[in-house]
Amino acid sequence: MHPRKISEPARVARAPSQLDSDNQARAVPIFQSTSFQFKSAEHGAKLFELSQLGPIYTRICNPTTHVFEYKVAKLEGAPCKAHGNFDNAATLPNSLAVASGQCAQMTALLTFMQAGDNFIAASELYGGTLSQMKHSFKTIGITAKFFEVTKPEQIKGMADANTKAIYIETLANPSYNIPDFDAIAAIAKELQVPLVVDNTFGMCGYTCKPIAFGADIVVESATKWIGGHGTSIGGVITDGSSFDWRVKGADGKLKFPLIADKQASYHDAVFVNHPVFGVEATNTVFILLARVKTLRDMGGALSPFNSFQLIQGLETLALRGKAHSDNANELAAWLVDHPKVKAVSHPSLTSHPSHERAKKYFRKGCFGSVLTFEITGADAAAMRKNGEAFIDAVKMASHLANVGDARTLVIHPASTTHQQLSGAEQVAAGVQPSMVRVSVGYEDLEDIKADFDQALAKCS
Ligand code: PLP
Repeated sequence: MHPRKISEPARVARAPSQLDSDNQARAVPIFQSTSFQFKSAEHGAKLFELSQLGPIYTRICNPTTHVFEYKVAKLEGAPCKAHGNFDNAATLPNSLAVASGQCAQMTALLTFMQAGDNFIAASELYGGTLSQMKHSFKTIGITAKFFEVTKPEQIKGMADANTKAIYIETLANPSYNIPDFDAIAAIAKELQVPLVVDNTFGMCGYTCKPIAFGADIVVESATKWIGGHGTSIGGVITDGSSFDWRVKGADGKLKFPLIADKQASYHDAVFVNHPVFGVEATNTVFILLARVKTLRDMGGALSPFNSFQLIQGLETLALRGKAHSDNANELAAWLVDHPKVKAVSHPSLTSHPSHERAKKYFRKGCFGSVLTFEITGADAAAMRKNGEAFIDAVKMASHLANVGDARTLVIHPASTTHQQLSGAEQVAAGVQPSMVRVSVGYEDLEDIKADFDQALAKCS
């Protein structure tokens, strides 16, 4: 009999944890310690000069967080050549956990961009990301330019000598458009810039693994499906180890000096040539510098307690991912036939413009677990009223601004997340007056339908 191969999500969930060698605790212990004692003066010196890796101080590395990082790197399909094993904090995971999804984006981009640089991002992004890119990055001299995600041909016309990245989300919100990864990755290669993908809606590799389709760097909010229960804010960056940071611009100068040039804060060491982390070796220089330079200096560390919570989430991610996806597919189909529903947007529907792309890039049968639907109404004002009436009428679903919780979550964007926009601006942003966004939970589907049915009955 052939030994049965354990599936990847199960293997990662079970991955050994022997951090507690005294008591053999099966769960990953929470190392709620700011600092870690050095074994000798020599050991301390080696850790600081990076000739040996290991926990020094929780802002940079923590053994509980370390296990979380290892698991995310594996689930995202990073090559993990400097990886070591889950329990050995003396090696380098291809992922770096930070305080939030927003912090993951900032830490990743600031590792290779500086004032004067620009990057080209999809125009349909999470609102907080758009705000970070348009306003906060602008204040430090980094410019974001935006292309329509369904028109990647716009990118080349926007690029210039200072363009340093292309940035997209796996699944745009609220259109649920899925980018043409192959086309965008080819453009990134041609422009010699990294492709950065926010895979929050890709459920940490369960639904989509952007690294397999040309992403060089993946960022994501762990707050959503990774944690999975709406308890902990966190973010993760994963290095696909695929980008050659030594590329030069037309002027012959290094295009990414923050990574490829001498590191002033490490006695001018050149990490791209490092025998273990360098480009020719394991090419983990980006994730190393994100940790030992950007995170060290900017400080958005994840707390060990949150790492523990997020590890708990990863243990059931595959089960939850399937349950979320199955419910979302069935709920979308049920809403299409509901007499009070005017339109439904979810990539599982053959009518959705990204249906075929979802089939190409996503796990079979998975189309994401967030959908929107519009309620009927005589005119825009009546429809808006119906959107609000639905939200007030649901009994089981929770009304809040999050996605990826175990529970079904609903929100009426026109009166909440997009209320600052005029009616016309809302429509331009894809927000219709009666539109309701649903993050589909994994309660019994019949209970979700019954809740929605009684709430729709209260709409005019
Ligand atoms: N990226 C996406 C796609 C999101 O939906 C969010 C939050 O909703 C974020 C990033 C930011 O994550 P966090 O709230 O953990 O900072």
